Amino acid sequence: MSYAAFQTEIARINDVLCTINLLGWDQRTMMPAGGIDGRAHQIATLTGIARDMATDPQLAELMDRAEADLPADATLERRAVAQARAEIATLSRIPSRVISEMAELKTRANAAWVAARAANDFATYAPVLERMMGLQREIAAAIGDGGHPYDAMVGMYEPGMTWDRLQSIYGQLKDALVPLIARAKDGPRPRADILTRRYPIPAQKDFGLGMARRMGYDMERGRLDDTVHPFEISFTRGDVRITSRFREDWLPGGLFALWHEAGHGMYEQGIAPEHTRGVFATDLVNLYAVGGASFGMHESQSRLWENRVGRSRRFWALHFGALRDTFPDQLSDVTEDEFWAAVNAVNPSLIRVEADELTYDMHIILRSEIEAGLVAGDIDVADLPGLWAEKMRAYLGVAVPDDTRGVLQDVHWSHGYLGSFPTYTIGNIVSSQLFAVAQADAGVAAGLDTGDYAPLHGWLGENVWRHGRASSRDETLERVTGGPLDPAAYIADLTAKVEALGA
Ligand code: ZN
Repeated sequence: MSYAAFQTEIARINDVLCTINLLGWDQRTMMPAGGIDGRAHQIATLTGIARDMATDPQLAELMDRAEADLPADATLERRAVAQARAEIATLSRIPSRVISEMAELKTRANAAWVAARAANDFATYAPVLERMMGLQREIAAAIGDGGHPYDAMVGMYEPGMTWDRLQSIYGQLKDALVPLIARAKDGPRPRADILTRRYPIPAQKDFGLGMARRMGYDMERGRLDDTVHPFEISFTRGDVRITSRFREDWLPGGLFALWHEAGHGMYEQGIAPEHTRGVFATDLVNLYAVGGASFGMHESQSRLWENRVGRSRRFWALHFGALRDTFPDQLSDVTEDEFWAAVNAVNPSLIRVEADELTYDMHIILRSEIEAGLVAGDIDVADLPGLWAEKMRAYLGVAVPDDTRGVLQDVHWSHGYLGSFPTYTIGNIVSSQLFAVAQADAGVAAGLDTGDYAPLHGWLGENVWRHGRASSRDETLERVTGGPLDPAAYIADLTAKVEALGA
């Protein structure tokens, strides 16, 4: 049967991509520093093999035959072929000259970025960034469909999303968040001292992992390791790993990162078996193995567990006692309300990765606006430091003292990534939309009130996770919430939190 042959070929590509994932996991958790050059070559070789397999004319033939043979009502199979065909078309349209130039430039751009950041000297990085943006404009022109060039870039991570639609969502967020941030800044200051006491790391890990298992992260099909930048990565639904980074003098850092990554992990563990080695397990555009409907959909699951569950007052009313039993000396003078307020403190700050829940999206909006302007050619690289400072003042009311803590803080552009930032905000929005519907289920609500997370885990598994990439983000939202992507529920959650904090 031709469809089975097509499926087998995609599964072979997926095996290569999963092996790349395994090399990447090892690089970021176990590998000694000296292994970096060899590992870069190994990953580049395997990525090239996966790309050759995906663009092989024989696969195109298999897709033609499968499409001709499939009965008209084989909806899921027809969609699988169409999805693979569209992704391969995108992959094939990027000229190989651009791919090799990009590969060569990435190494130099990253070195230039590291040096410029250390020296607080944007000017030395500007020429290489200029070249990088030239290549990005070529990619956008090659894969775009005539719309705004940023559509093509964002679409690689969030299929179907456009700059037009993003701007309308961002407009609603800015209107709501800018005054809300100003209000929270003037509100009561939560106790800051209680999170920076000495919390031994093994005990943090025990508490955090115990809670992740209680949420439903399955350790029979998972594991937790230490890393510098926390991430989740999967090889099949039977092997979904998470990482975190714990600091003795910053308690929330490791805990919330762990629950965030466990949220990603539960999504991967929950995908139906028939979708995890077959055609829906492979993102051919990004040559990425296994995954949810989109990057934003994935992020919605991590944010849901981290913020909607883990930062809620209800959560700490239930679990602060256990945390204080773990750290009796450090938390003897702290109440559950003080702890909840401390992990929800609003502090407009310079650095995105340290931003709190309320201010985080403004960092994303700023980056998206700059990326869209750069790829469209409306913004000059030379103007970036000034533009950055201007937007930081307007959105967060903070003054940027230097480029290191401004335009030079993110690694993304030097690595050739452009267009992925919006998926974080999309994830935040979707997390609130889904959580609002989940909470309306009596069983889920009762579980959340008693610290039994099995009903929420089951609800997400049934409504979101099991579909994997077989259901798009918009289809899932339509099916579950009855409407499209809409920031209203997220704005309501953030407003309610600012009010609860007493601002
Ligand atoms: Zn994430």
